[in-house]
Amino acid sequence: MAEKQHLSKERTLVMVKPDGVQRGLIGEIIKRHESLGFKLVAIKTVMPTEKHIEEHYTLDPEWRKVTGEKTIAGYKSKGMTPPSNDPFEITDNILKCLKKYMTSGPAIAMVWQGAHVVKMVRKIVGGTEPLTSDVGTIRGDYVMDSYEMSDNDGRAIRNLIHASGSVEEAAMEIPHWFDEKELIDYRLVGEQILYDVNLDGIME
Ligand code: GDP
Ligand code: MG
Repeated sequence: MAEKQHLSKERTLVMVKPDGVQRGLIGEIIKRHESLGFKLVAIKTVMPTEKHIEEHYTLDPEWRKVTGEKTIAGYKSKGMTPPSNDPFEITDNILKCLKKYMTSGPAIAMVWQGAHVVKMVRKIVGGTEPLTSDVGTIRGDYVMDSYEMSDNDGRAIRNLIHASGSVEEAAMEIPHWFDEKELIDYRLVGEQILYDVNLDGIME
């Protein structure tokens, strides 16, 4: 049986979206990940193509269905009529908007590593819609946008950052943006304080 990988080896894909780059938030976003003790194993500036963005959002074959259904349920819970009752039609439109948004300028792609990094990063990123993202999260603190405004204006919601939603999603997204050789394995001195079992390397 294959040995279970230590939790400290978990990785996630994070992207500063084009609006985050333009807003001058690259440093702030990196700082929040560093502050939690996570390790940056890859980073680069990318100019995404529409094809690469469509592939990114549809790496999970269920994404079109799930996102369409979630969006329809969202409209109904607010007492609104969805623009269509076909989840695939809804997601087609979301995808069209996402391609325009994500190819509007350079973005920063990063891979962060550490224990529970996927869940911890989602926590500091906050909910998808900045109007309702918690205070203290990146989306909650640095941008205001809403489905109401973005839908009315026929565009994607601007929420500064992407982060993988699950370990499985990260496993598909990381190779979509990075070659294996771009991911650097190295030791960060702070990891000893986070993960060393005996914590016996401190005293002289
Ligand atoms: P994230 O993981 O928090 O970025 O959100 P998802 O993976 O669920 O959705 C990806 C993207 O699809 C979001 O960033 C939005 O641009 C778009 N999206 C998701 N849900 C909705 C929705 O209910 N309405 C609209 N208009 N767009 C949505
Ligand atoms: Mg997502």
